[in-house]
Amino acid sequence: MVRITCMRCSRSFTLTNEQIARIVEESRDTKHKHYVVNCPYCRQPSKAPLAQVRQAHARLQALIAPAAGETPAEEPAAETTPPSEAPAADAPSAE
Ligand SMILES: [Zn+2]
Repeated sequence: MVRITCMRCSRSFTLTNEQIARIVEESRDTKHKHYVVNCPYCRQPSKAPLAQVRQAHARLQALIAPAAGETPAEEPAAETTPPSEAPAADAPSAE
């Protein structure tokens, strides 16, 4: 979550996940330290620190899709066989 305080009306507002994603996308090739967003209250341009926006975006991505290669769910299927099953020594006839 990125919180921004408007310099004009000094009200604070937060960027939505969609805004964060768009800002990261749009500022990918820029060397600027800030991204200008319009204050929803007074419509004046306000500066959002890109470092914060990118950080929030990275956290968001980690939540949505866990990093590939880090899959802890790896259980051997052999030990999960239920023992209640009768051994099929003599196969029952299907007829
Ligand atoms: Zn404002």
